[in-house]
Amino acid sequence: MQLDPTTLIFINIANLLAMSLALPLVMGLDLSRAASHVRTSLMLKAGAWMLLAFTTRLAGQWPEPVLATLALALMSLSHVLIFRALSLWLGPRPMGRLLVVLAVATPIGFALSFHNYPVRVGWLSLMLAGQLLIQARATLRPAADSNRRGGWRFLLFGCLFVMAMLMVLRGILGAFFPALSPNFHTPSLVLMLALVGANVTLVLGNIALLAAWREEAQQQLRTLVVTDALTGLLNRKGWAEQAGQALRYAQRHGYPLSLLMFDLDHFKRINDTHGHETGDAALAFFGGLLKCGLRAGDVNARLGGEEFCVLLVHADTAAAQAFDQRLRAELTKSAPQTIPCVIDFSTGHALYSGKDETLESFMARADTALYRAKNAGRGQLVSAETPAS
Ligand code: GH3
Ligand code: MG
Ligand code: MG
Repeated sequence: MQLDPTTLIFINIANLLAMSLALPLVMGLDLSRAASHVRTSLMLKAGAWMLLAFTTRLAGQWPEPVLATLALALMSLSHVLIFRALSLWLGPRPMGRLLVVLAVATPIGFALSFHNYPVRVGWLSLMLAGQLLIQARATLRPAADSNRRGGWRFLLFGCLFVMAMLMVLRGILGAFFPALSPNFHTPSLVLMLALVGANVTLVLGNIALLAAWREEAQQQLRTLVVTDALTGLLNRKGWAEQAGQALRYAQRHGYPLSLLMFDLDHFKRINDTHGHETGDAALAFFGGLLKCGLRAGDVNARLGGEEFCVLLVHADTAAAQAFDQRLRAELTKSAPQTIPCVIDFSTGHALYSGKDETLESFMARADTALYRAKNAGRGQLVSAETPAS
């Protein structure tokens, strides 16, 4: 079988162009930042390869080094964009600064060494290999809160790693055994492997990136399903999931867990007096206050209407009462500057009994305490742990 570099480069360009034209159609224009980085990166890569193909026709003429350097700059920039997309998907990634330094140094070193073939090929191949390895590393170990664990990371890692190794090989051959890899038009085993590799990893890498984008979209949808739109807190469904999990942890590790249920007092009057919009603003404000007072591991939600609840981990009755007091103090302090009405709330508290108590029974006890707080005159906390007198 006869393979020649020009054909392989041409096929790569055709694939890149087709993908970068088709992708906006498939993905639409309203993309997340990460997905639009991926799309732009693909366009830059297509541009880089087109320039590269063009330079093979300009051997020895003055535009050759200029266009080849530009091609490398575009290629390096496309790598930085993929890295940025990975950081958005997987949380902060290591070696981002180093990648930017390599991306800047790669075309500069290439331009400076253009007339020394072994140095030029050695430099560009090893620099690109470094860029690819930093991207490959970036696919590993997602941040704990990133929720992205799809198999796409391993596929992308494989693509980037294989290309990095091929680049290392080409760099070593180009720098130390230039006779085995004389230039871009002459077929050599390593060049052919690198070009076939570029084609295959382009296809597989893009499948991986599309899967990442799909995972992101699914995650956004999932967040919407469990979030209350007005306050940004969990809704009842999200609450049931996260509170259920917190209960299981508390049971396993035996630490105290407090549930506080809040109901805004006479809220119907707020709506009637100030209008529904002010009512909404008051609800959003109260939700924001709840969020501010929480520690890691606590769970909060708007259960519906003007009813909210929080689950405080490692919190006994005294800690829950202190939380309630802080919330009341914060409400008194900041409400006048934020909302055009006065609001107050009643609180029901229950301490988790452990012993296989279900979330439903835990909530029912807090709800009964809340009912007692309303009956006792509102604007106060009643704990299920304090017997009714
Ligand atoms: P209580 O002190 O006994 O809790 O009195 P209340 O008026 O707060 O209780 P009730 O349950 O009778 O009324 C709750 C009100 O909350 C009724 C409804 O108009 C209002 N409400 C529920 N959801 C929303 C919402 O999303 N936005 C606004 N603005 N009001 C809401
Ligand atoms: Mg109510
Ligand atoms: Mg109410």
